[in-house]
Amino acid sequence: MLSIEDISKVAVGCERCSLRQNSKQVVFGSGDSKARLMVVLEAPDSKAAESGEPIFGEAGTLLHNIFAASHIKREDVYITNIVKCNPPRDRTPKKEEIVACRSWLDLEIAAIRPDYIVLFGLTPTRAILSKSDSIKELRGKWHSFGEIKVLCTYEPKTLLKTPKYKKMVWDDFKLLMKDMEGLDL
Ligand code: SF4
Repeated sequence: MLSIEDISKVAVGCERCSLRQNSKQVVFGSGDSKARLMVVLEAPDSKAAESGEPIFGEAGTLLHNIFAASHIKREDVYITNIVKCNPPRDRTPKKEEIVACRSWLDLEIAAIRPDYIVLFGLTPTRAILSKSDSIKELRGKWHSFGEIKVLCTYEPKTLLKTPKYKKMVWDDFKLLMKDMEGLDL
């Protein structure tokens, strides 16, 4: 079994799809290599690609605030994206780009072996759960990916545009923490 460090060293040289030409660098996942909780987002935006962090700026701060409110330490989580390069104008990744990048995510999941995955937004939700329903229909209940328990919810950049969805994300994290730690938040 390859370690997350070994996978990362190879992935940063990936040129498998045209997104690499737009992105400052390949942004691999970061966090605890033995995390019980993995978070999967859509793609690094241009600022994240510059910083090398999977999520950065206002959206990153919002995600860290969600963790803090849920009594989750950032360093205990593994955060990654469905595609590891920044799409032009921060657009949604195309199907062929998601397919090209998918093996990196599968290797991350196999190396980390998390108990829980939270999918933020429609792109990772559709890619992992292979369902075409909306986040509104899929959130608030458990799904599975093999033996891993999976929740999906609204992505941080959606929350920045539409703050009324924050309550639903909070409800999803309450569900997560009840199951993961027995916490009644
Ligand atoms: S998006 Fe993924 S597949 Fe495409 S070049 Fe970047 S790392 Fe490789």
